[in-house]
Amino acid sequence: MLSTLKPQPADKILELMALYRDDPRDTKIDLGVGIYKNADGETPVMRAIKAAEKQLWDVETTKKYTALSGDPAFGAAMKTLVLADSVDHARVGAIATPGGTGAIRQAFELAKLVNPDVTIWTSNPTWPNHVSIIKFMGLTNKSYAYFDEANCTVDFDAMMESLKEVKSGDVVLLHGCCHNPTGANLTLEQFDLVADLILEKGAMALVDIAYQGFGDGLEEDAAATRLLAAKLPEMLIASSCSKNFGIYRERTGCLMAISEKAEQTAVTQGTLNFLNRQNYSFPPDHGARLVTMILGDAALKADWMAELEEVRLGMLGLRTQLADELRRLTNSDRFDFIAKHRGMFSRIGATPEEVLKLREDYGIYMVGDSRLNIAGLNAETVPILAAAVAKICK
Ligand code: PMP
Repeated sequence: MLSTLKPQPADKILELMALYRDDPRDTKIDLGVGIYKNADGETPVMRAIKAAEKQLWDVETTKKYTALSGDPAFGAAMKTLVLADSVDHARVGAIATPGGTGAIRQAFELAKLVNPDVTIWTSNPTWPNHVSIIKFMGLTNKSYAYFDEANCTVDFDAMMESLKEVKSGDVVLLHGCCHNPTGANLTLEQFDLVADLILEKGAMALVDIAYQGFGDGLEEDAAATRLLAAKLPEMLIASSCSKNFGIYRERTGCLMAISEKAEQTAVTQGTLNFLNRQNYSFPPDHGARLVTMILGDAALKADWMAELEEVRLGMLGLRTQLADELRRLTNSDRFDFIAKHRGMFSRIGATPEEVLKLREDYGIYMVGDSRLNIAGLNAETVPILAAAVAKICK
């Protein structure tokens, strides 16, 4: 039977990682894969995570199963982190999932259960895995206009125009902050207008929030999600702890589902638990437990927030440095958007040929759509990248 299998399309980013690994040049720069790296190119375990792991070693007496939802304390901590008091927590069901990807997958499963003919709307472009999972599940995907290629900003008018086609029962996937891959984000006023439209259409918002704390700050980055949660009767939120807690491999995420009325929550929560049961039964606990410990301990939380803020400000500093350098070298404001984008990524508007040339001639690795990982840079490599971009990108 297995001989009938056909090779799956290769993941472009993983392919790029392999090319980078095999490149012998010691001047090569990896701006591809979406993980945070410090100035030394390392992705260290965060201090608060290490401290929580030490504590856990002492206090954990069992590795028994938790609950199908994961530890309810994790769900409660995530509701507070992401939603704060924007919505009555009694209206919010939550499950732990294997990473943000698991939360997104379970959100699609829930949407499918509610409406087997659901259409899931994604931004053009979006994180490619969104589209890939939707298609793999046999669901319909439609994309809404998002990125203005010429200016590297959001084309909000075009976005609203395409969202006019949304039907009742559809799901509109929005990036809560730090849009991947573009780095271009909606303003809160624009999110508000999108919420009105979703409401008017009788659709449901699904917010993917994978980079809370990487953009404008922990609270600021959750503001759009909270605005939507306060305004919409129902909503789904897929949150990832991979980036902001630096626990990529622990697979820690949370799906939250907001019901219109608190009386509905027991059934919504039960359905979320059921979906966990069907897909992998009990979700992973280690990362979720560390997150719960950190968020529940004032000292650990303060240290985590301080380190996250260093990470965020480091990336902002690199953005400013790169935009300044490009302004100087091109004598224009063409790349000023890099300083306005937020999060780990910016799509810089280079053609596929230019991206290839940057790789071949300069050993600069970015994804084919010209998405670069800002965290792959440091103060020394910014001028190298800027010089190459100024030369190659017409
Ligand atoms: N959403 C977006 C937009 C992402 O970029 C990512 C990670 N690349 C995820 C979700 C999921 O991340 P993870 O499953 O590693 O938590």
